[in-house]
Amino acid sequence: MNRWTQITTFQASPGDPHRPNSTPIYQTATFGQPSVNSLGRYDYSRSGNPTRDVLESQLAKLEGVAHGFAFASGMAALSATSRVLSCGQHLVAGIDLYGGTHRLLSQILSRQGIEVSFVDTSDVSAVDKAIKPNTKLVLIETPSNPLQHIADIPKLANLAHQAGAWLAVDNTLLSPWLQQPAQLGADLVIHSATKHLGGHSDVSAGAVTTDDPDLARTLAFIQNAEGTALSPFDSWLLLRGLQTLPLRIERQQASAGHVAAFLASHPQVKRVHYPGLATHPGRDLHFSQASGAGSVISFETGNVQLSERILSALQLFTISVSFGSLHSLASLPCRMSHASIPVESRHVGEDLIRLSIGIEDPGDLIASLQTAIQRARLARSA
Ligand SMILES: *Cc1c(COP(=O)(O)O)cnc(C)c1O
Repeated sequence: MNRWTQITTFQASPGDPHRPNSTPIYQTATFGQPSVNSLGRYDYSRSGNPTRDVLESQLAKLEGVAHGFAFASGMAALSATSRVLSCGQHLVAGIDLYGGTHRLLSQILSRQGIEVSFVDTSDVSAVDKAIKPNTKLVLIETPSNPLQHIADIPKLANLAHQAGAWLAVDNTLLSPWLQQPAQLGADLVIHSATKHLGGHSDVSAGAVTTDDPDLARTLAFIQNAEGTALSPFDSWLLLRGLQTLPLRIERQQASAGHVAAFLASHPQVKRVHYPGLATHPGRDLHFSQASGAGSVISFETGNVQLSERILSALQLFTISVSFGSLHSLASLPCRMSHASIPVESRHVGEDLIRLSIGIEDPGDLIASLQTAIQRARLARSA
């Protein structure tokens, strides 16, 4: 069966005699048991809930693996993943990571006696050098956010495995529709489902998927022990979003290609970061492991004030953190999503603008950018 069909059709409610076409929201914390000696499939929603179960099997299917876990946010998913490490162990992470991930690793894990090294994960030899005898996890984003550096998933998986470590890939930026890291050797794949998977800016959620039964047991234990699972209603919202994932991603990506080409040819734009452009240094590597370039573009203007004025003048883009929504969004990462990274550890220019392309008409989006850049430039010379 074609993957599109596989993803957009699923059993909404296994075992329900009424065969609903939309998964019911099992808004219950507890479940009655047949007797004290014969317990049912569900007893307590923190440990398991039918709505969440449908979602979790859908999440696993998206990444082509056996096990999926839904969390209250992307950070809860990353935090649960970090729990596979114990005190005294070492983690290698990328330098160009989501701001909240940097904060979790540098300010929380470090307090628990877990050592963290930040390296440029687009450089395989740098990761190799950073690996130590106690390294247990390598955590990467590819493309990274917002600079869109590409890391070699199969090579890093090999490196990690040779060292007796796991490779975890935060696949939020592309979504599983465009890249399936587990099929390339990753042991754990993480998502902020708040972004593409949800797709409608209406739910905060996170996901971890794995094909490894031991890691799956550990994650199920952590999810239950720490009580970080996604609620039934939010699971339902996420399930609804997932059904249109391919539709949204394809549309947003096609428009992003046009927007990136427009920006690359604009005299006021110094540099565009988008793996779909022929000039992107990691383009070939990217397309060897992903089927598309996605819908997030970042670009530099060379002037912070100019960037600020462009953002203020943009009509069709909402100034907002996040990406992957069906509405187009624009942000200044240094002031917003990446502000939690200390200036000295930041690798992102102050003038960098990040755009997330939505499902609007691409011609309108380009016209909006054209006008905003023009207005911002004129305001400077005025
Ligand atoms: C947003 C994001 C997160 C955090 O997810 P939340 O749902 O906001 O908690 C983690 N990783 C990446 C790459 C993100 O973009």
